[in-house]
Amino acid sequence: MAESTFTTHDELSQTLTAVLDRLGVGDPFVAADQGGATITARSPITGTEFGLLTAHTGSDVAAIIEQAQTAFEQWRLVPAPVRGKLVRELGELLREHKDDLGALVSIEAGKITSEGLGEVQEMIDICDLAVGLSRQLFGQTIATERPGHRMMEQWHPLGVVGVISAFNFPVAVWSWNTALALVCGDAVVWKPSDKTPLTALACQALMNEAARRVGAPEGLSQLLLGGVEVGEALVDDARVALLSATGSTRMGRAVAPRVAGRFGKLLLELGGNNAAIVAPSADLDLAVRGIVFSAAGTAGQRCTSLRRVIAHSSIVDDLVARLTSAYASLPIGSPLAAGTLVGPLIDAASYEGFGKALAAAQADGGTLVVGGERVHAEESEDAFYVQPAIVTMAAQTDIVKAETFAPILYVLSYDSFDEAIALQNDVAQGLSSAVFTLNVREAEQFVSAIGSDCGIANVNIGPSGAEIGGAFGGEKETGGGRESGSDAWKAYMRRTTNTVNYSTELPLAQGVEFV
Ligand code: NAD
Repeated sequence: MAESTFTTHDELSQTLTAVLDRLGVGDPFVAADQGGATITARSPITGTEFGLLTAHTGSDVAAIIEQAQTAFEQWRLVPAPVRGKLVRELGELLREHKDDLGALVSIEAGKITSEGLGEVQEMIDICDLAVGLSRQLFGQTIATERPGHRMMEQWHPLGVVGVISAFNFPVAVWSWNTALALVCGDAVVWKPSDKTPLTALACQALMNEAARRVGAPEGLSQLLLGGVEVGEALVDDARVALLSATGSTRMGRAVAPRVAGRFGKLLLELGGNNAAIVAPSADLDLAVRGIVFSAAGTAGQRCTSLRRVIAHSSIVDDLVARLTSAYASLPIGSPLAAGTLVGPLIDAASYEGFGKALAAAQADGGTLVVGGERVHAEESEDAFYVQPAIVTMAAQTDIVKAETFAPILYVLSYDSFDEAIALQNDVAQGLSSAVFTLNVREAEQFVSAIGSDCGIANVNIGPSGAEIGGAFGGEKETGGGRESGSDAWKAYMRRTTNTVNYSTELPLAQGVEFV
């Protein structure tokens, strides 16, 4: 492991105070004896706590949704290209505050500086996309079988969109949903992870400023701070027309039946267990770079993180040797320090999950080739840094099929390409996947209907790090939702089919006579 510097709690607190001030949040902390619900803001960099923030309770939620519903009723009357101006302002503010918001993402979610900035860039990109979209919410004209008639589709605003987001993309997921929802004419109520409330307060401050500049209705885009109780109140409110929930499959399993029970619309972005197949023809230098970024980057805490490599038996030993050497020199430490590539796990529970998964994999006959140790424990016992691990496995056992949200890479081998695809698909999740091959037949098969069963299937790049232009999401236990680009906007609107009769006759469809 290479040397890297460690940030102290005092340095972190000073940076935080300056960043919150510039982002318009000010001093959000409250006294412990102030009464009412609170949540704790902390940083995984040092593990120490910054202070308490006022949280909402389940009973606050109804009033906030009511206000959002009122704002929606005004906002839907604003022409879509004019709605785009609000998102353009938000994008401009994000450009202006990119460094500070990126630093806050690093402080609160533990992402290295470049990834914190990358997350804000993703917000800017979705704002650009949504502004363009505000002039392109196209419906179709459809040929009708009846003379003197015209049939068309229109897309109308949906209502209040509830957004639940996970800790690991504390700002981007909100922006994917909010930028699209706002141009589509919806209001937004957001419940972020209770592990990342400060980034949420900063986003809300920027949103409030954008709304003030364009004169958007009061309460159009709002924030709910709190834990599961607050999330559940949002899930159960019949005025929430669409619930977009990002997080674990466990959360999706709890939320989905409740929304379905009230016939609400649901967009689920849940866990992944992403694999890369490495074929004999692969450019191994490129594959190693793609694998290390996808598996060890973000300390394995992306939904698209690479968790399984399925390598051809003729190259698996060479590949593991190269990966082991790359892993051995990964700089692990404070995500704010220049040169760090691997930051901390989010908390103690995550570290515990990492250890348990490694033990289970070894109990299943796996060999720990590199990593697995805790590091930097002497600087802070409340921060959890680990050496990313590689475990070779003879079989895809239950622990390999589970998503452990930490940097563990399981390596399996294969002999035929069909076997590799079967292994890749033989998990409950279906988010992202990749193949490294220079064989065009393998590449095409992988992205075909008999290839990867995931929502994302890449060739010669890793499974992690999507652009916002494509639809993002996955199948099976990943939940089936799609966000971001392509036609994902349709989830945020309702479709009406209109048949207009401009004739003097009343012909019925399918030639039905009724006289
Ligand atoms: P989590 O499921 O613990 O929490 C996610 C959010 O759901 C939080 O805001 C939490 O408060 C809320 N929540 C949890 N239970 C709830 C309930 N019963 N009702 C209402 N709200 C509830 O997930 P996490 O640990 O924050 O994030 C990691 C997980 O998220 C991983 O599984 C990862 O794969 C997944 N994830 C998926 C995507 C994707 O786009 N597919 C993106 C990011 C993260």
